[in-house]
Amino acid sequence: MITDQYGRGVSYLRLSVTDRCNLRCFYCRSCKYLKFIPHQNILTYEEMFKIIQAGIELGIQKVRLTGGEPFVRRDFLYFLARLRHKFPFLDLRVTTNGTLITNKVLALKDMGINCINISLDTLKPEKFQEITGRDFYHQVRAGIDRCLEENIRVKINIVALKGVNDNELEDFVQFALTHPVDIRFIEFMPIGGRTMWNRDFYWPAKEIIRAVEKITPLEPVNFKTSKCSPGSTSGPARIFDLKEGQGRLGVISPLSDHFCDRCNRLRITPDGKLRACLFSDKEYRLLPLLRSPKLGPVQLKKVMERAGRKKPLGYNLLSREKNRQSVCQRVMSSIGG
Ligand code: SAM
Repeated sequence: MITDQYGRGVSYLRLSVTDRCNLRCFYCRSCKYLKFIPHQNILTYEEMFKIIQAGIELGIQKVRLTGGEPFVRRDFLYFLARLRHKFPFLDLRVTTNGTLITNKVLALKDMGINCINISLDTLKPEKFQEITGRDFYHQVRAGIDRCLEENIRVKINIVALKGVNDNELEDFVQFALTHPVDIRFIEFMPIGGRTMWNRDFYWPAKEIIRAVEKITPLEPVNFKTSKCSPGSTSGPARIFDLKEGQGRLGVISPLSDHFCDRCNRLRITPDGKLRACLFSDKEYRLLPLLRSPKLGPVQLKKVMERAGRKKPLGYNLLSREKNRQSVCQRVMSSIGG
C-alpha cells in the first residue's frame, strides 16, 4: 500500500464518473453558467477500468463512484456490473442523489452493492425544489424506500446549512428513529471558485450533536464491537447509535474538527485528474498517460504512487487560506464530494 510522508496509508479511491447532474444544488455548483467538461475530455469507462486496476495494484481496497450524478451517465449500471465482475473482492460503493435509482435497486442488490449513500438535504418537497432547483423529492424518497425494502443499507448525507435545514433537525432525527438508516450531517465546505459559502450558513457539528442530545439519547458507536457494520470504520464520520430507535446519527466535520490525520483517499475527477486532497488544487493529469500510445500502465501507476506519497495535509491548506472565500477552485460537482 502507498504510505505518504505523514505515515497515512492510501487505500480508498473516489472516482467521479461525470460532472453532469440532474440537480442544481445551490451550494454545490453554485453558478448556473458554469460550463461542463467537454465530452472528449471525459474518461471513458475503459480508462476508468485502467485507473482502478492500477489503484488495486497499489493497494486500493475501496472504490466509491460518484459525480455529478453517476446515474445520469449512460450505461453506468452496466459499468458497475462489469466492475463487480472484474474485481469481486473490491469494496465497491456509490454516492447518488437518489433520483434515478428506484428501478435499479434490484440490479444493485444482485451485484452485491449492499450500502448506498444518498444525499437529501430536506424532508420537505417545496424546500427540496428551492435547494436543488428540481421537483424530484418524491423520486428520492421512493429510492430510499426501495433500498430499505431490499435490505440495502442507506446512509443519508445532509449538508448542514444554518437558516436552510437547521429547523428540520427534529424531523431528521425522527426519520432515523423510525427507519434503519444512518443520517449524516456534513459541514458545508467552501469548495469551488464561486462558492456560496459564508459564515451565516455554517452549522458546526458540535452544535448539531448538542441539539440532537436534547431530542434523544446518543451512544457513540464503537466500531470494534459494532454489530451493525462489522469490520468497518467510521471513515471521516463520527457515528452515534440512537438508543431509542432503529437508525444512527453521524456528523462529518471537515471544518470544525478535521480528520486529515486519518485521510486515506485519492480522488479522480471526470476528466482524469488525480487530486490527493479535497482542499488542494494540485492535480495530476492521468488522461495524457492513458491516451498516449507510448506511455502505459507502468507510467500511470508511477504517477498515482507519487501523488499518494505526496498527499498534503488539507487542514494546513484550509487554515492558510482562511481569508479567502474558497479553498479550491474546482466545483464539488466535478470533484465528487
Ligand atoms: N450526485 C451525487 C450526490 O448527490 O450525492 C454525488 C455527487 S455530490 C457532489 C457528493 C456530495 O457532496 C453530496 O452529498 C453533496 O451534498 C455534497 N456537497 C456538495 N457540495 C458541498 C459543500 N460545499 N460542502 C459539503 N458537502 C457538499
